[in-house]
Amino acid sequence: MTEKDAKAANVVPIKRARCPMCRKPAESEWRPFCSKRCADIDLGRWLNESYSIPSQEESDEDGVREED
Ligand SMILES: [Zn+2]
Repeated sequence: MTEKDAKAANVVPIKRARCPMCRKPAESEWRPFCSKRCADIDLGRWLNESYSIPSQEESDEDGVREED
């Protein structure tokens, strides 16, 4: 394998990041998304999930106390 081949082999396998929203190739400007639109969609989804996730801290504390 020549040095040139090694370089080429190194470049090809690089995983081209894909937008988790629409699976288009991600743009470096909006990584890991392809556009501001998809980045905004993900942000909105993330915020919604954080609001709907039930608090686990309380149940964890209960479990610890009952351990004794
Ligand atoms: Zn996208």
